[in-house]
Amino acid sequence: MTMTCYVAGTPVQNDAVLEVKSPYDNRVVGTVTLATASHVEQAIAAALKGGKKLTRYDRFSILDKARHLLLERKERFAQTISAESGLAIREANYETGRAHDVLLFAAMESLKDDGQIFSCDISPQGKARKIFTLREPLALAACITPFNHPLNQVVHKLAPALAVGTPVILKPSEKTPLTAILLTELLYEAGLPHYMLSTLLGPTNEIAEPLVKDPRIDIVSFTGSVAVGKRIAASAGYKKVILELGGNDPLIIMEDADLDTAVHLAAEGSFRNSGQRCTAVKRILVHEKIKDAFLEKFLQKTKEYTCGDPADPETRVGTVIDEAAAIYLENVVNKAVQQGAKVLYGGKRTGALLEPTVITDVPRDADMVMHESFGPLAPVLTFKDIDDAIALSNSTAYGLSSGIVTHNMDYALRFIKELKVGTVNINEVPGYRIESSPFGGIKDSGLGIKEGVIEAMKCFTYVKTFSLPW
Ligand code: NAP
Repeated sequence: MTMTCYVAGTPVQNDAVLEVKSPYDNRVVGTVTLATASHVEQAIAAALKGGKKLTRYDRFSILDKARHLLLERKERFAQTISAESGLAIREANYETGRAHDVLLFAAMESLKDDGQIFSCDISPQGKARKIFTLREPLALAACITPFNHPLNQVVHKLAPALAVGTPVILKPSEKTPLTAILLTELLYEAGLPHYMLSTLLGPTNEIAEPLVKDPRIDIVSFTGSVAVGKRIAASAGYKKVILELGGNDPLIIMEDADLDTAVHLAAEGSFRNSGQRCTAVKRILVHEKIKDAFLEKFLQKTKEYTCGDPADPETRVGTVIDEAAAIYLENVVNKAVQQGAKVLYGGKRTGALLEPTVITDVPRDADMVMHESFGPLAPVLTFKDIDDAIALSNSTAYGLSSGIVTHNMDYALRFIKELKVGTVNINEVPGYRIESSPFGGIKDSGLGIKEGVIEAMKCFTYVKTFSLPW
């Protein structure tokens, strides 16, 4: 696959080319002609110059056409996701379905009216006027995305922005750029005016950092690590900043839990997408009374998550993003073992392939408990009662999401009220959502500004208020 960055629909010319390699077998799966600082200038100028103004129906039609094109090409997209990220092809197929939903929901939302009306004669101070609101697109958005869902992370930025008519300069991950460029080409083909989208990759100090700092850009919408997110927050200056950062989500299993449900959710949450979801289960917290029964079933279940060639439809767990990430995770496990933890299953690494790994007796202050481990690790910790579970859950710097397994409504309500997180899912994995529901974290996981199609569309607009005598 030979691909290029795009400045407002025009392929860039440059000698610098990025080779994208399969994390599984290191073969070159594609190349991308990179952009330079001058392409950033050209992309900003093209977006601000603008072009055909899109009606709601135009925006609907483009997103709906894009959705149909994605359905037609879903195998190609899935194969590209899997080849460049090492994710199992079954996960990549699932991701194309999610991306389809994002386009569908954004198309639907683009047709809806988004204004409000306030009658002013509703108090003694009032009078016969009406106040109205409408939403106006921003001049320009910079969207920066991570590697872990090469399609879905990108479409979650582009579709809401385009649905409200805000032009975007996209900076996808250098680890998974091919899918992002395929999507860029698909959107042009769906009728998107070229000024509305540029896709640029290149040295951080020439592309990403200047975009973040540029005062002509109204919003930086970033999904990625806490460290980079905080750097962006410090350097973006006077503009909107959306930060969707790392997670360290717990699955909390109470003593009344249905064990089969708990085991299913623990395995799906920990191992799907090679554990590389911001909302993957990163800590399994089990009531001490049921730890042994849970572990027995969980170990059996884990055996079903076979790890291997991502292109094999039977493979459940592909690689992590690269060998360096796998070595990092291996070291995290070894360090926990030195602190007294026991590996009950898995733990073997071959290149970037890391087996789903179940670890028990993990100290509460181990790295894998306190920090995000972005891979198929399942550390199991125990707690003695709900107070202890809430304290343990809240004990890290993160606050993205959570899953609780219980039938006890009192427990459920306490978790909903007392967990310091953006989402609480009862009898579901922390990652459960639909693509239009509000999504996002607090503490180090984000500033509490939600994404999801509907909330993201709000982020990509300004509200204008106007009033009329009535
Ligand atoms: P990352 O290293 O932070 O990179 C994310 C993006 O930021 C990449 O496009 C990267 O470009 C770019 N970048 C790097 N340095 C930058 C800088 N100084 N200024 C501006 N942009 C810069 O994250 P990742 O490793 O790709 O992704 C994994 C992380 O994302 C995990 O922590 C995960 O939890 C988090 N995540 C969060 C959510 C959420 O919704 N909360 C969702 C998914 C993932 P290069 O590729 O060129 O380095």
